[in-house]
Amino acid sequence: MRVRADGGGPVTRAAIWIGTSFKMNKTRAQSVAYARRLRSEVGGGVPGVRPFVIPPATALAEVTEVLGAEGPVMTGVQNAHWEDAGAWTGEISVPQAADAGARIVEIGHSERREHFGETDHTVRLKAEAALRHGLTPLLCCGESAEVFARGGSGDHVLRQVAAALEGVDGAERALVAYEPVWAIGERGRAPRPEEIAPAHEALAAEWGGRVAGVLYGGSVSPDNADELLGVPGVDGLFVGRAAWEVEGYLALLETGRRRAGAGA
Ligand code: PEP
Repeated sequence: MRVRADGGGPVTRAAIWIGTSFKMNKTRAQSVAYARRLRSEVGGGVPGVRPFVIPPATALAEVTEVLGAEGPVMTGVQNAHWEDAGAWTGEISVPQAADAGARIVEIGHSERREHFGETDHTVRLKAEAALRHGLTPLLCCGESAEVFARGGSGDHVLRQVAAALEGVDGAERALVAYEPVWAIGERGRAPRPEEIAPAHEALAAEWGGRVAGVLYGGSVSPDNADELLGVPGVDGLFVGRAAWEVEGYLALLETGRRRAGAGA
């Protein structure tokens, strides 16, 4: 559900976003095999769904070629630098990512905030860079288990999103992924819908009409995808482990298609 910017109440969402990042997994051959299978199953698109795949940067160009640079399945990068070029050893810029086919730039994942010194400041610079070059930033936000336990989820994510997007030109083209740190990855646990509802309610009220969509991510699987898509304010899902086998991703796309067809 999207909330109208004029405060006039909920409107039907345009489409359900269902995306995956492979993180630091898969060779080029494995990524291309995944993309080929995906193309053979959903090459013409999935009604009511906007799929996207974020492979490792080493495979981005080939995966984009398989899925089509303008095709219904978008591709992206897991990180990009805020400068266009320069002496930044080991980094990839937004223009380089775009040159390899990226339409989406993932920014501020909690693993990058924790292990690679990503801050609210660099996240904002990266969001600005992505928007400046016409790409879609996928801004990840989410609270720790401690913040969750004391009921601070909503305030925490509102602060993170405001730090990245408030006053930024083109912010309405950004996506936000709410990814509670306690829910993602191997050590995460799948949330109950009511546990993610407060943050999504806060994000929908503040940003629902000001960004392109607010996704949920963290221990999503084909078993819980439908109920998580049913949480008010959830415009889609961002998925790790459960989508790394293409069958898992196809199952999630099917869940999105069914829900979109039901007009949810
Ligand atoms: C993530 O880390 O962004 C994520 C969504 O992971 P998973 O689905 O594996 O919890």
